[in-house]
Amino acid sequence: MFKKILVANRGEIALRIICACKDLGIQTVAVYSEADRNSLHVRFADEAVCIGPPRSADSYLNLAGIISAAEVTNVDAIHPGYGFFSENPHFAEVCEASKIAFIGPRSEVIRLMGDKNRARKAMAEAGVPVLPGSEGAISSEKEALRLAEQIGYPVIIKASAGGGGRGMRVVASEAELNASVANAQSEAAAAFGCADVYLEKFLENPRHIEFQVIGDHHGKVIHLGERECTIQRRHQKVLEESPSPSIDAETRTRVGRTVVTALEKLGYTNSGTIEFLMDPSGNLYFIEMNTRLQVEHPVTEMVTGIDLVKTQILVAAGERLEVEGDHLPMRGHSIECRICAENPETFAPSAGKVTVFHVPGGTGVRVDTAAYAECVIPPYYDSLIAKLIVQGKDREEAISRMARALDMFIVEGISTSISVHQKIMADPEFRAGRFDTGYLRKFMRNGSRRKSV
Ligand code: ADP
Repeated sequence: MFKKILVANRGEIALRIICACKDLGIQTVAVYSEADRNSLHVRFADEAVCIGPPRSADSYLNLAGIISAAEVTNVDAIHPGYGFFSENPHFAEVCEASKIAFIGPRSEVIRLMGDKNRARKAMAEAGVPVLPGSEGAISSEKEALRLAEQIGYPVIIKASAGGGGRGMRVVASEAELNASVANAQSEAAAAFGCADVYLEKFLENPRHIEFQVIGDHHGKVIHLGERECTIQRRHQKVLEESPSPSIDAETRTRVGRTVVTALEKLGYTNSGTIEFLMDPSGNLYFIEMNTRLQVEHPVTEMVTGIDLVKTQILVAAGERLEVEGDHLPMRGHSIECRICAENPETFAPSAGKVTVFHVPGGTGVRVDTAAYAECVIPPYYDSLIAKLIVQGKDREEAISRMARALDMFIVEGISTSISVHQKIMADPEFRAGRFDTGYLRKFMRNGSRRKSV
């Protein structure tokens, strides 16, 4: 078993990983930027190393600084969390070469899935349904036109190396497609350092459903059911729940089995998420795989009873997944609201000093955060400041628990997205489980109209 782990991240997820290490009796090393000197992950780790100035590129993405910190403090392993280096195959390779365990999948699997186009191909070959689209990167406008004609408009052009809701453009007609391919290629090259783009069918009004998996180093892969992540803003998740109100037990078993079989073929290890879009008839199509821990992993933990971060560490250290069959059963219902430091009307980031910070508690409530009263939210990083997670015996209980927990969450000094979540919890359409990925756009429009009346 590992004796010491370096946590290559910040904020709530760094603290979350430190908690798992403490539960396992493993020493921790935090790394931090100059802007995070007073952060809780620095305070609660056993050792802490400053790795550079505030900007992520100079600190949390400073590969040499992080590896030097790992060597100086003599750690056995690095946990990358999510974001930053978590899906960077080169970082995983450097860890492997430095004889430091990378708590995640093997670098070649990260590389394969990081190329969304190759991932599509690998998944289709392994028997997972994918959306109709190009077989490889699109080489010419002519090829794109022919393909779009075949699968029917609208289509979506995606950057093979895209992520974080960026690098996608919807094309409604042949006239639009004409100019789109070259533009998408040059945008992709500028944003992701790779000009490859591919094309797939654009689904209107889909739902986003994803399956959580974990694999050990002895060939065993299991799934932990699905999460519904349909409530999105600009293709980014805002609220997640498990189980999905639109998946029945038969679908869960069938899709779960397909996913596990595909990942066993790939020799997948550690935590991963297979993302699908669901069309209005209930068909699921693979869109991408994330080869890391997800922000929304707590809803899965709440309904399966597993500690995913602890399990990640244990399997990375070579332990077996002691589970009969291909999945863990789910119990009850869990919802997570992402609380972001942002203006709830415009969604503009709201950095600054938090003056009051009161977190809710009580039965079935969990808060993952690194914020505290008097802390300063720096402007350099992601705006997520807390994850409010609840569990109930069913969806109805989870929703009423979330509504009361949101009412008791008090943050002053900065603006937050709490009021957006309060409105969602009170909405009859959300409560009835009737929504698609366009929900928030329509809902915010209606919401502001209602307000002005
Ligand atoms: P990223 O890696 O940037 O998160 P994804 O491929 O996971 O990108 O897609 C993010 C979101 O974008 C999806 O949840 C969905 O809302 C939307 N999206 C992606 N592909 C399609 C598609 N083919 N049709 C409709 N919506 C899509």
